[in-house]
Formats: sequence, C-alpha cells, structure tokens
Amino acid sequence: MQNYLPIYKIWLSGILFLGWNVFVASAQLLPRQPTVVNHIDSIVPRFIKSNIEDQIIFEPTREMDDVLRYARSTVDPMKRNLSTDQFLRRYLPYSQTRLMKNGDIAYLEFYYHKYLTTLKECLAIANPHNLEFITSRRAFFKNASLETRKEKRRYWRKFDTKRNELITNFFSFREHIIPAVSTEVAMILQEEHFPELTASMNKLQNLDKSPLEVTIYSNRILAIPEKKNATIAGLSIISKCEDIFTSGSPAVRNAYPGLRGSNKGLAVHLRLFEDGVTLSHELGHLYYLYYKWEEYVSYIRRKGKDYEPGGHGPDDPSGLAARMTENGQMPF
Ligand SMILES: [Zn+2]
Repeated sequence: MQNYLPIYKIWLSGILFLGWNVFVASAQLLPRQPTVVNHIDSIVPRFIKSNIEDQIIFEPTREMDDVLRYARSTVDPMKRNLSTDQFLRRYLPYSQTRLMKNGDIAYLEFYYHKYLTTLKECLAIANPHNLEFITSRRAFFKNASLETRKEKRRYWRKFDTKRNELITNFFSFREHIIPAVSTEVAMILQEEHFPELTASMNKLQNLDKSPLEVTIYSNRILAIPEKKNATIAGLSIISKCEDIFTSGSPAVRNAYPGLRGSNKGLAVHLRLFEDGVTLSHELGHLYYLYYKWEEYVSYIRRKGKDYEPGGHGPDDPSGLAARMTENGQMPF
C-alpha cells in the first residue's frame, strides 16, 4: 500500500536516498478537441471517440454503471451497498497482475476497507439500541432502554463520535469511485486504441531489473503551476536517478506539489474521463524517454534556454514520439 499513500509521504522516504539528475514531465497541451464526450452527469456514461474513422463506442459494464450511480446518489452510510465490491472484484485483478496500474482503484480499495471497518464498529454500537444513521439525540434519549441519564449520555457520545468518523470515511471512500472508474475506462480505451503499445508498456524493467510499474491516475483538476491558464489533458512523469527510474524525485515534487506517484515506478496523470488516445500519447512520451533517456538529456542540453518544457518544441523527439503513438504507430 505504501506506493499509494499521498505523495508527500513518499517523499519523506525517498528524498534521503534518491539522487537525481534531471527530470522531464511532459504535458499535453490542448490544441485538439477533447475526444471524449463526457456524460457523467447523466449517470450512465457513454465514451465516444470522435476523431478516428473506426469509432469506438465504449459501453460501460454493469459494474461501472452501478458503482457510478452509487457514487452520485444519496445513500445511507450505515447501509452497506455491494456495487463497490462488484466493481473491485472485476477490475482490481487487472492492476494486480499487470505493470500498468490503475492508481485510483488502489486508493478506492484502501478507503473502501477503511470505511467498512468503521461501519462494522458503528453498527456494533448502534444495533443493541436499534440506532439508525438518522436517529436524533432527542429520539434516543426518549426511547433508549438505559437506566440512567448518565448512561444514556455516555452511550450517545460513543455512537455520535463513531457516526462522525463513519461520515468522514464514507465520503473519502466515495470520492475515489469516479476517478477509479475514469482511469479504468481510459486504460480499456487505450488498449483498444493501441494494443501493441499497451503490451510493451506492460513489460518494462527498471534499471535493477525489477518490473517497472506505470501507474495511471485521473484528476479532477490537472494544471501546470508555472503555466497558469494552460489546460492540460495529461501529464507523464519519469525521472532517471543514478540507479532507478522513478516518478518520485525532489525535482518533480517541486514542480508539481501534490501529484501522486511512486518511488519505483512511472506515472501518468489524466483529467477525469480522458480517452485512450490521450493515454497513448502520454505513454508515447514515457516509451521514448525510457529507451532514449541519454539522447534526450543531450537534446535538452543542446537546446539550452530554447528548450520548451513539456516536450512539444518544434523538433522535440519526445513530443514526436507521443504524436506517433497517438496515431497508432510505435516510435521505433
Ligand atoms: Zn505531450
């Protein structure tokens, strides 16, 4: 689970021993139209790709529909609903068995179990006196079968405290549902768009020969701090330290405070409900930088102050690779 803690916690362990030389984070600016029609507000999303000849119309599975509907409805936190279990059961295995991972589904699972633990504790307190989520203090004092007022007060305080904890955990679990579905959809669409790229990203090795994970995240807000008004669809993060590829270096942290990542893996950040072409584009950057790191470092040095951060200067090979994967071609 350590990889999925908020990034500022990772730095504490990483910053001490990871030397770094250079990092490149490439952002996709948005000259082209977004290619996903986002119908999230109508609860059942249809993800339609409109910019290529063979249209892919993504029909969300029942598990996705159910869990999205659940994420958006008013429900009783003290009544367990199984749509999250079904979603996790179906999709979590992909992230557990492949190198490309849905970072948001890991968060979802973590916070879901935290919520379930609190729910169990809350029900243990509530059940003996048939307390419900909406039970008021007044109703409890009127109806509870406890002897003294002091006992009632103590009992009520215990329930109320646990109920507040439940509310907090319930909302932090629910806010991870939409990003988790969003990332999963982007990954499914990416594989449909360019399976060869997916396959090659699923077998990368780190410099110490360990498998190199690529974690995909979706973000409600994605912005580059130094470019205040730029809207970006995606961001890929790779940094090569002396003996390791990582998405967690001090340089990245300074440039993008708050972005999630891991010490021993690469990361891609998308906006909510981006499509497979956008993800292929970001993976194209990573693919290029992974194989041609040294070449790219000398490109940056050669460019000097003319280098355009983000990887899309006129002759930037990282940007060219990303455009190629966007068009379904391997960069090399
Ligand atoms: Zn790009």
